[in-house]
Amino acid sequence: MDEIFDLIIIGSGPAGVSAALTARHRGKTALIVTTAPEDSPLCKAEHVDNYPGFHNATGRELVDAFVSHAEASGAKLVRGRALAVADMGGVFGVSVGSDFFQGRSVVLAGGLTRAKPYPGEDTFLGRGVSYCATCDGMLYRKKRIAVIGLSADAPEEAAFLRQIGCEVEYFDAGRAKKYEISGGSRVESLTADGQVYPVEGVFIFRSGVSPASLLPGLETDGGHIVVNRDMETNFPGVFAAGDVTGAPYQVAAAVGEGNIAGLSACKYVENKAKEK
Ligand SMILES: Cc1cc2nc3c(=O)[nH]c(=O)nc-3n(C[C@H](O)[C@H](O)[C@H](O)COP(=O)(O)OP(=O)(O)OC[C@H]3O[C@@H](n4cnc5c(N)ncnc54)[C@H](O)[C@@H]3O)c2cc1C
Repeated sequence: MDEIFDLIIIGSGPAGVSAALTARHRGKTALIVTTAPEDSPLCKAEHVDNYPGFHNATGRELVDAFVSHAEASGAKLVRGRALAVADMGGVFGVSVGSDFFQGRSVVLAGGLTRAKPYPGEDTFLGRGVSYCATCDGMLYRKKRIAVIGLSADAPEEAAFLRQIGCEVEYFDAGRAKKYEISGGSRVESLTADGQVYPVEGVFIFRSGVSPASLLPGLETDGGHIVVNRDMETNFPGVFAAGDVTGAPYQVAAAVGEGNIAGLSACKYVENKAKEK
């Protein structure tokens, strides 16, 4: 896509949607990049009774209402996992699977990333470990691979890998508790709860990507992105909102922070345009 969006927002939870609505009300273009919206932890809430206007809604109802509001506002929604954000000097590039999008500003609203990398995951990243079926799947045709599926779209990704000819050993969220990836110069095996599976690749599908691996150099504290009151991060033009910035983990707080991040991103884009 050649369009340069005013805001690229990562995450379609309450914070991301609020940032997108704010941007659209200010006449800005907004692209939301998100894994399945049902990956938001809010979908697990049986009742949400502390968000104004939605008496006794389920979390899923709230998420569906938020996402359709964002789309009705004219924000574009792309389904996929943002894997990297690159500062290209005035414009940011966001890689989503094998696609690439450009934005004048970025709002990180991916929620909490609870998972620590598995032993061996960082070591073998790019040498057998992958987070993207469409980018790397063809490299493993006719090869035995493991898929650790922790996100809502993981079964679909595994089906795609099978379809292109990979021999897939699938691990859903309940199948094993402990994993370790081993090998020499490349991945040679996955150990799951003590049992060794000889594989040449390990695809891991989580709903989120840790902020530090999304944008190297991003200032974090205890896994949360450090922001000021304008939701600015240490990268000019990159803002963050919602659970990703820390407690309180609440919808109302996420919506409020998303609004501030959206306003700050719009101001940033306007000031940059004046400099030209
Ligand atoms: C069981 C449960 C019950 C809860 N009940 C309540 C309640 O009653 N009231 C209340 O106020 N709060 C409740 N919460 C908390 C609430 O769900 C969160 O505070 C809120 O969802 C945070 O919103 P967010 O937009 O920051 O992030 P999220 O809602 O987590 O949304 C982030 C989205 O971004 C996606 N994403 C992450 N990384 C990427 C990436 N790299 N690329 C693309 N997409 C990505 C995620 O998959 C997710 O869909 C509850 C939480 C849980 C788990």
